[in-house]
Amino acid sequence: MIYLDYNATTPCDPRVLEAMLPFFREHFGNPSSLHRFGQEARQMVEKARSVIARSIGAKEEEIVFTSGGTESNNLAIRGIAQALRKKGNHLVTSSIEHHAVLNVFRALEKEGFAVTYLPVNREGLVHPEDLRKALRPETTLVSIMHANNETGVIEPIEELSRIVHEHGAVFHTDAVQTVGKIPIQVDALDVDLLSASAHKFYGPKGVGFLYIRKGTRLVPQILGGHHERGRRAGTENVPGIVGMAKALEIAQDEMHEEARRVGTLRDRLEEELQARIPDIVIVSREAPRLYNTSLVLVEYVEGESLLLNLDFEGICVSSGSACTSSSLEPSHVLLACGYPHALAHGSIRFSLGKWTTEEEISRVVTVFPGIVEKLRAISPFGKAR
Ligand SMILES: *Cc1c(COP(=O)(O)O)cnc(C)c1O
Repeated sequence: MIYLDYNATTPCDPRVLEAMLPFFREHFGNPSSLHRFGQEARQMVEKARSVIARSIGAKEEEIVFTSGGTESNNLAIRGIAQALRKKGNHLVTSSIEHHAVLNVFRALEKEGFAVTYLPVNREGLVHPEDLRKALRPETTLVSIMHANNETGVIEPIEELSRIVHEHGAVFHTDAVQTVGKIPIQVDALDVDLLSASAHKFYGPKGVGFLYIRKGTRLVPQILGGHHERGRRAGTENVPGIVGMAKALEIAQDEMHEEARRVGTLRDRLEEELQARIPDIVIVSREAPRLYNTSLVLVEYVEGESLLLNLDFEGICVSSGSACTSSSLEPSHVLLACGYPHALAHGSIRFSLGKWTTEEEISRVVTVFPGIVEKLRAISPFGKAR
């Protein structure tokens, strides 16, 4: 089996699992308990918080543990929009966000907020001038993702956040695809809030964090006890938090070498696919991009058919057109980039990672052209070759 869907989720690193196990067994205490079981768990949670804070150049009290990227985005966006509602009801985001951001804004629109969805260019980049023009006196929050999960394109966050801060608004970034892959420093990025999720960087599923810059007030979205300084109630996911910190530590140590190794494999994949298959587009090839991601558009065929045929060969990838309900909607990201429906339907995302090998890439570039040829021969979209 060949797994090339690391942007969807990553397997837990065995060293991470090892670090977590004692917290399911002997160290099972509730960090809120005053006895020694509790205090031991508390210490480990705070140690993890310190590791995570240090890795992104933040202070311990600026890190809030959550259940993952989706919750971090909800807390950041709803939390700020509600906290600043008296100041203004206009919010800005981009048209290529993950649904964990887009659907929060859609819900806020129903609750009476005005939302501007910024366009992107063909490469999937937000233009800073478009952001500047979208800002109004009543704009309180701007949320733009760091790297896109489908294309891997990295947005110019430093430039965007400077514009937002000159305007006096708050800036949030969904950095779920970048934390653990590229170095992140919250001061250099100049962001007020940043979302991350452990299962995207070889940690466990169901745990993440939100960075909240000191002095940024938000309305908590999960109510209960006074956990996380009143910003997120609920008994801490101690094994998850310990695992996330361990995963981030490993990522920091190995990031540089991984970028080089995986980047070389990704480039080879793209070069060979381009050479072996006519009429394909490699999305945003010239844009600043994550080194592990390759989004390929194959003319005259359906992404879903490509995916299923690859799966039959033991190669697991993702297709941009998420088959939600029964209607095949092409990816909103590709449509925002200006690709026509027909082309956007034929998208396949390869996302590589820590356990991707030369041999696996060789097998993909051997198998994939044949699948494309077979599907094109029976394609209702014509172009018999
Ligand atoms: C995976 C992902 C999320 C959601 O994170 P979960 O931890 O799975 O809830 C949000 N944003 C982006 C960009 C992602 O890739």
